[in-house]
Amino acid sequence: CDHAPVALAGKVPVRRADAAKVARALAEPYSPPMPSGESFPVLDRCLSGELPRDEALTELERAGLRGMGGAGFPTARKWRSVAAQPGPRLVVVNADEGEPGTFKDRWFLENHAAQVLEGALIAAWAVEADEVYLYLRDEYADLHKGLATLIRDLPGDITIHLRRGAGAYVCGEESALIESLEGKRGLPRQRPPYVAEVGLFGRPTLVNNVETLYWVSRLLAEGAELFGNEGRNGHHGLRTYSVSGRVKEPGVKIAPNGITVSELIDEFCGGMEDGHVLAAYLPGGASGGFLPARLQPPLAFGAIEEHGGFIGSAAVVVFSQADDLRAVALNLARFFAHESCGQCTPCRVGTAKSVGLLAGPAWDRDLLDDLAGVMRDASICGLGQAAPNVWQSLFRHFPEVVT
Ligand code: SF4
Repeated sequence: CDHAPVALAGKVPVRRADAAKVARALAEPYSPPMPSGESFPVLDRCLSGELPRDEALTELERAGLRGMGGAGFPTARKWRSVAAQPGPRLVVVNADEGEPGTFKDRWFLENHAAQVLEGALIAAWAVEADEVYLYLRDEYADLHKGLATLIRDLPGDITIHLRRGAGAYVCGEESALIESLEGKRGLPRQRPPYVAEVGLFGRPTLVNNVETLYWVSRLLAEGAELFGNEGRNGHHGLRTYSVSGRVKEPGVKIAPNGITVSELIDEFCGGMEDGHVLAAYLPGGASGGFLPARLQPPLAFGAIEEHGGFIGSAAVVVFSQADDLRAVALNLARFFAHESCGQCTPCRVGTAKSVGLLAGPAWDRDLLDDLAGVMRDASICGLGQAAPNVWQSLFRHFPEVVT
């Protein structure tokens, strides 16, 4: 299915791609930029012993780098926990971004593929893995060709396997991704054991997101100060926001971590579209729930939770007074129902039931509250646990819209 970032509601205009331009781009050989001079300068320092492993990990800790796929787990701690497991170990690059509104990983692979691959090779060096699997969402077919060429020409002993997903949102969840890589249906696993202990092909596995690996490469090249000198509203570092909706200049924005939505719109997106006033936004795609314009928490890990949502992969979707939030919510509920893998009953039945309830003229608060509780408590993975954020956030912040 197509998770187009702005096609969320009937009243939100879809920016249609220029078909001729897309056809031209697909026809042209894709040649991602490579760093000038040495191919992988940071990796070379790692392999030569100039940058010892502990020093590299300490640098990532000093920078406070966390997983940018959405979970926000501290990167260096994850690396240490995988490295502590008995070998052989594997590294997986999660390039299966599918959260509605998220398109940053595509941008990194289009513009900085070499740094992402360097980050993956550094990760493999750090956990002593000799194979890397890059799982690319199938919708990024144009990237596949360029990455295959780039990977084929890589120097060194570490093998990178490029694998295509098959268009399933849930395969962005790391254990479902691993099942898919093993050739099985992409069903999330029960944990424990965690994939750091028993992952791909039963081996301890490090799974990192594309953007995280990009920052690994840059932070080790430029030092933790790259993040230390940035940040806003009590948070530090840089963050990549995928911004879509009613702004003049949507797109991928690398901005100070912790910036508020209005700061992001005004300083990085050229402001709201003419005639539109910020009314609501999704801070973290479909999963992170709606926030009203009057609430402006820092767009950072841990700062949205007190309002019932989360930042996830930082897909910021902006709505104005012209948008019908109930229609958006119904569309998102349909998305979750479509993408539920069906493995567990609370999610399989709950997402389908929510579509029926949200499609009705009046929302039954008691019933939807009950449904949300069951789905959150009993679903196996984040899809079923987060899907109720769609309607629960509207009940919490927009009672005038849903009652
Ligand atoms: Fe599958 Fe949904 Fe259960 Fe996750 S919560 S395992 S997507 S049915």
